[in-house]
Amino acid sequence: MAERTEENSHQVIMIGAGPAALSAAIYTTREDIDTLLLEKAIPGGLAAVTDQVDNYPGFPDGVAGLELANNLQQQAERFGAAIEPTEVTALHDEGEWKRIETITGDYYAKVVLIATGSAYKKLGVAGEEEYYARGVHYCATCDGAFYRDKRIAVVGGGNSAVQEAMFLTRFSSHLDLIVRSKLRASEILQKELQKFVDEGKITVHLGVTTDEIVGQEGKVTMVKGTDTETGNEVTIDTDGVFVFIGLSPNNQFAGDQFQTDEVGLIKSDANLMTNVPGIFVAGDIRSGATMQIASAVGEGATAALKIREYLEGHPIDVQAEV
Ligand SMILES: Cc1cc2nc3c(=O)[nH]c(=O)nc-3n(C[C@H](O)[C@H](O)[C@H](O)COP(=O)(O)OP(=O)(O)OC[C@H]3O[C@@H](n4cnc5c(N)ncnc54)[C@H](O)[C@@H]3O)c2cc1C
Repeated sequence: MAERTEENSHQVIMIGAGPAALSAAIYTTREDIDTLLLEKAIPGGLAAVTDQVDNYPGFPDGVAGLELANNLQQQAERFGAAIEPTEVTALHDEGEWKRIETITGDYYAKVVLIATGSAYKKLGVAGEEEYYARGVHYCATCDGAFYRDKRIAVVGGGNSAVQEAMFLTRFSSHLDLIVRSKLRASEILQKELQKFVDEGKITVHLGVTTDEIVGQEGKVTMVKGTDTETGNEVTIDTDGVFVFIGLSPNNQFAGDQFQTDEVGLIKSDANLMTNVPGIFVAGDIRSGATMQIASAVGEGATAALKIREYLEGHPIDVQAEV
């Protein structure tokens, strides 16, 4: 464990440098609050690996995800935000100072913002990586509109899969819902789903695994699966596949000190503070998040303003206290 020094101490440390943290950093650094972001991959988070973002306000023709991510990073750095490439492995509330363990050493902060996002669970089948974002998707709000009057296949049988399948019918010419075993969605959702089935908008394939996503000339054309009862191969023609088999919150470093929901997303109060005083949370890792860049950016801004209020109530001078 490294001792606290001037060099490793900051007023605010943000874990992650995706849209939520970068937006928060624009606000904190512009007000001269010493802010360090710790990022294990590339700044910009999931936005940086999204091909085209069509629903981020202010860009009438859409914007490349990487361009948006770079702009957010440049704006935060213009005001003095520092981004350190490292992975956070543990977070300790030691009272006045929080100790952040990383693979490159310890850091200390008066306030921590957790903005580590979440990963969508993958099927792990052939074709999934190859057609990622070009026929295989994990976000209906983000990519559904690319499938107007086209066939869509949705994989999953829980609440999100059923909800998103029904939402996607506003675009699709027909939708196939592929469920490995049986539907796990709530009874109310299953009743709603039945209406779409009766109207011929959705076909539900129960007890069918998804084994391969097949394409031709760079485009998805079919899902291949197996009927678990008969063992027969099942093929479903489609133009795109949306996978909703769960979320993996990036919370491995957090231990059990935070209140979380059943998925593992971290709960906050109305100030976006967790149950640990001085530790805030924003973006896709927050319970109740809407998993959109615009909302992550908004939560980042809100968290920054609440962090400022918190710091004003707990005035500090990092250098004087070392
Ligand atoms: C394929 C795809 C397409 C999408 N398309 C759209 C779209 O069109 N429109 C839209 O609004 N949204 C879209 N989204 C969702 C959007 O990207 C997210 O909602 C948004 O990026 C969330 O921002 P965030 O800052 O909360 O988290 P993230 O963007 O996930 O950023 C979190 C960051 O934290 C880092 N991190 C995680 N753990 C650690 C750790 N232990 N130590 C250090 N760093 C860590 C990660 O590397 C990452 O950079 C899409 C998502 C995907 C996957």
